[in-house]
Amino acid sequence: MPTRPYLFYGLTNSVCSKCLAKVEAKIVFQDEAVYLHKHCTIHGREDVLIADDIEYYKLCQEFIKPGDIPLKFNTPIDRGCPYDCGLCPDHEQHSCLTLVEITDRCNLACPICYADSGPSPKLKHRSLEVIERMLDQVVANEGNPDVVQISGGEPTIHPEFFEILKLAKSKPIKHLMVNSNGVRIARDRAFVEKLAQHKAGLEIYLQFDSFEAEALKELRGEDLRELRQQAIDHLNEFNISTTLVATVKKGLNDHEIGKIIDYGLQQRCVRGVTFQPIQAAGRLQDFDPKRDRYTLTEVRRSILTQTHHFKPEDILPVPCHPDCLAMGYALKIKGQVIPLTGLVDPTTFLKVVPNSMLYEQNADLKQKLFQLLSTGHSPESSATTLKQLLCCLPMVAVPNGLSYENVFRVIVMQFLDPYNFDVRSVKRSCIHIAHPDGRIIPFDTFNMFYREGAQGYDIVNPQQRQAVGVL
Ligand code: SF4
Ligand code: SF4
Repeated sequence: MPTRPYLFYGLTNSVCSKCLAKVEAKIVFQDEAVYLHKHCTIHGREDVLIADDIEYYKLCQEFIKPGDIPLKFNTPIDRGCPYDCGLCPDHEQHSCLTLVEITDRCNLACPICYADSGPSPKLKHRSLEVIERMLDQVVANEGNPDVVQISGGEPTIHPEFFEILKLAKSKPIKHLMVNSNGVRIARDRAFVEKLAQHKAGLEIYLQFDSFEAEALKELRGEDLRELRQQAIDHLNEFNISTTLVATVKKGLNDHEIGKIIDYGLQQRCVRGVTFQPIQAAGRLQDFDPKRDRYTLTEVRRSILTQTHHFKPEDILPVPCHPDCLAMGYALKIKGQVIPLTGLVDPTTFLKVVPNSMLYEQNADLKQKLFQLLSTGHSPESSATTLKQLLCCLPMVAVPNGLSYENVFRVIVMQFLDPYNFDVRSVKRSCIHIAHPDGRIIPFDTFNMFYREGAQGYDIVNPQQRQAVGVL
């Protein structure tokens, strides 16, 4: 009797990448990788690579924890996930990080921009009144939001940028980030000097994709090498906390992952690097979603092979949303990089629990690891939690004078798109976008359905539902 060429691991719901109709999806292991096998009644079979590391994929399923729910939900359950965002009461995780987009306009026009931003004066800045409403909505949902990211377009070109910053700082938000392409930061030193007056509890989430002109032109439309360095020089000068954010495309800049980490480690202002794999399906010729997708597990492997700082056990799934977030913590101490696990003698771990999955078996340690690994923690609060973690273990020397300047974290942040979409996973999404109408929408579904002009906009836009016969 013939045997299937794959192992059927589980079943979930996805969407057809062509019409975004909800379809059943098998999760299968084949050829040492993980695939979704989907079938749309109109568009047929679709196989999508979702991970190239079966063991890590399985590990993610062990890293889940009961979700924290927001104080309120914003939409009713009506047509089922993902058509009810949100957040609807069926969502399993609160907002660890919420983006508030203050403008549609930008001083770049990146070919890969998901927000379709650019310099056109037709694109508008949002008013202070609308922005305050959006911030208040985040506060109403979260109470004390962990992280709010002021985003765009390019937020630093908003004419009332500093009023918005003050407004956001007047709200009970634990940590503020400004998501920036760095153009103004590089060109306008006086702007950075003023920014430095607000730097407590503030972090710049700085676009930083490549050291190579060709890659930058493809991703950003311009050779931004000098400009990036100028931005970093200014941020170093005023020591404003910065996370470098690299959009990584398979075959374009994925060989630079180690170099970006090493560069970040040498910068006074940089507290970490975030890698976001791009799903470049539409623009690549001969693109095969079964073969060519760039997955979180591949980025993780590149971090491990292109640097010598981390071991596999140092880059772990983030419990809020383990399929899509992986994180490694290190300390920068006197020019040395020490990963979290390197701080703790393995025999100490063994004494606590005789099993490598220690966080699963030691409630206190598990809770502290979860706290430490939560994306909701700013680098500042991470240092505190890290101290608590170390203190809870016997026989471990806690370095004196640890501060947030010693913390360095590497994150891989993968977003779901019409190919790898998994309803089971999206319900745990903890990175959300505030919609001006009061909804708080997962980043993944926002860009698939809820942003004006998105592929599925007509499916979910209430005014359009009847017209396209989706109800
Ligand atoms: S993604 Fe979350 S908020 Fe959106 S429909 Fe699904 S459960 Fe509801
Ligand atoms: S810098 Fe960001 S917002 Fe501006 S065009 Fe590029 S991707 Fe879009």
